[in-house]
Amino acid sequence: MIVFKNVFEIKEFLKNKNSEGKKIGFVPTMGFLHEGHLSLVDRAKTENDLVVMSIFVNPLQFGPNEDFERYPRDQVRDRELAQNNGVDVLFIPEIDDIYPRSLSVHLTVKERVNVLCGKKREGHFDGVVTVLAKLFHIIEPDAVYFGLKDAQQVAVVEGLVEDFFFPVEIVRVPTVRERDGLAKSSRNVYLSDQERIEAPEIYHSLSKAARKLSDREGDLRSILQELKQSINDHTSGIVEYVEAYTFPELTQLEQLTGEILIAVAVQFEKARLIDNIIVDLG
Ligand code: AMP
Repeated sequence: MIVFKNVFEIKEFLKNKNSEGKKIGFVPTMGFLHEGHLSLVDRAKTENDLVVMSIFVNPLQFGPNEDFERYPRDQVRDRELAQNNGVDVLFIPEIDDIYPRSLSVHLTVKERVNVLCGKKREGHFDGVVTVLAKLFHIIEPDAVYFGLKDAQQVAVVEGLVEDFFFPVEIVRVPTVRERDGLAKSSRNVYLSDQERIEAPEIYHSLSKAARKLSDREGDLRSILQELKQSINDHTSGIVEYVEAYTFPELTQLEQLTGEILIAVAVQFEKARLIDNIIVDLG
């Protein structure tokens, strides 16, 4: 595995690989790697000649009262995991490498962000698309791998790629879970022992709601209400939202057909967890 920190050095290296006709798969992350991230690498390995992973905790996508400073980081462990799981090229830039001066152009997301996390975390997805536009230009990948755990991110990035004709394929990868159903997340380390016991209830309640929706058991409103109640009853977290939209457009549901995203966010004492299920009603 080759490790780069400098933007121009990795660009030069990958340009050569590109001209040799190598297909480049890219996995952008914020590090503190877990099996969710590694499933993206696995998938990328099967579909590309070269797998590039970036680890960059992007300050631009954190709000002033969010967890940028205390976001979990462990570069030594991450390097080892990346190496042992078949990453070919690891890009670990510093903030100054990606943002050498204040930006003279800001990207602002207009669609797919007035709901869910986009509504709660103002400016979050502007930061996401800004860093991804930079990373796409640096890496020039053929395919980029994103986890459906962050379904709204997938929707927004698909919008970015379509709007600006980025010549990349976006690959959606299913959510990897702990054995008890909790979606793997770098932020799970913030959970107290008691919260960790309760947290799988989020997925259990989501699964129940998804089953009811696909069996058309009750109307959507009552299914979502029950889902919220179930998380409230079984966890000490505070439900931030329980909502359902069309996917990937994230518009209000006019009718129960096609792909429907049911998404939740729950605030525990130190961890804000998100999870979702996409139900295909055909
Ligand atoms: P992050 O480091 O949290 O920015 O995540 C980097 C990538 O890994 C994103 O595309 C996430 O959606 C994806 N990811 C995070 N957790 C999971 C998971 N449990 N299963 C699948 N993909 C995930």
